[in-house]
Amino acid sequence: MSPTRTAIVTGAARGIGATTARRLASDGYAVAVVDLDEAASEAVAATIRDAGGSAIGVGIDVGDAEQVAAGVARVADELGAPVVLVNNAGIIRDNLLFKMTEDDWDAVMTVHLRGAFLMTKACQAHMTETKFGRIVNLSSSSAQGNRGQANYSAAKAGLQGFTKTLAIELGRFGVTANAVAPGFIQTDMTAATAERIGVSFEDFIEHSAKQIPVGRVGQPEDIAATISFLCSEEAGFVSGQVIYVAGGPLD
Ligand code: NAP
Repeated sequence: MSPTRTAIVTGAARGIGATTARRLASDGYAVAVVDLDEAASEAVAATIRDAGGSAIGVGIDVGDAEQVAAGVARVADELGAPVVLVNNAGIIRDNLLFKMTEDDWDAVMTVHLRGAFLMTKACQAHMTETKFGRIVNLSSSSAQGNRGQANYSAAKAGLQGFTKTLAIELGRFGVTANAVAPGFIQTDMTAATAERIGVSFEDFIEHSAKQIPVGRVGQPEDIAATISFLCSEEAGFVSGQVIYVAGGPLD
């Protein structure tokens, strides 16, 4: 892959995002590690540079239009036009519907939907000009409905519609858009879910693995590998798809 292309991964200070940032760097991309906390982003970027890659850490709240515009401009300036965007930043504010607050609803919509919208709008200008682009949005198996996650499942289902529309609008510019929908992945997010329902993370993992056809929970590397393929040159005819990466069939 030449010349060096620039990728942005949001929510990349930890979990799936950090692993994806490292994976795209090893695939040859210059990577902007984006997260709320610039110091935490920069720490991940430093590990990429130590491994011989090219990366910077950038603090952006993806729900804030001004921060998105300034942050994406900085990435273009320091690393080059971003032609790969992984909208991975995410939060959960789980509660049964009758206890869910308006703030729980709005916070989840802001990060997942408004965040993906703002970041994609800022980056597509670079992609359409370059006539190459890869957009990957993180959906979830929860898009099919999950107790205690009315806000999150609505946002993750919304991202699937967003993805398909991007694929339709941007295809003619050499830009693909796909969604990856993980099942249970072992990260801080699933650890927080275990805490909320009052079981140890170890027991939660063991119980969940028994429900998954491949007999284990997922790791961030499982998601990073799928994103890596979708961002590759050879995936140019795969667009508008939702790929469940869940250790078994979901549709
Ligand atoms: P995680 O460990 O909680 O990491 C999420 C990251 O996003 C955190 O670093 C967080 O920063 C950052 N973030 C939150 N709000 C942000 C904002 N407004 N702007 C920029 N960054 C922000 O989560 P994960 O498990 O890696 O999940 C990554 C993505 O995969 C999410 O979209 C999630 O919904 C999705 N997913 C995960 C699973 C799973 O089983 N883990 C399953 C399906 C889908 P702070 O640390 O500062 O909050």
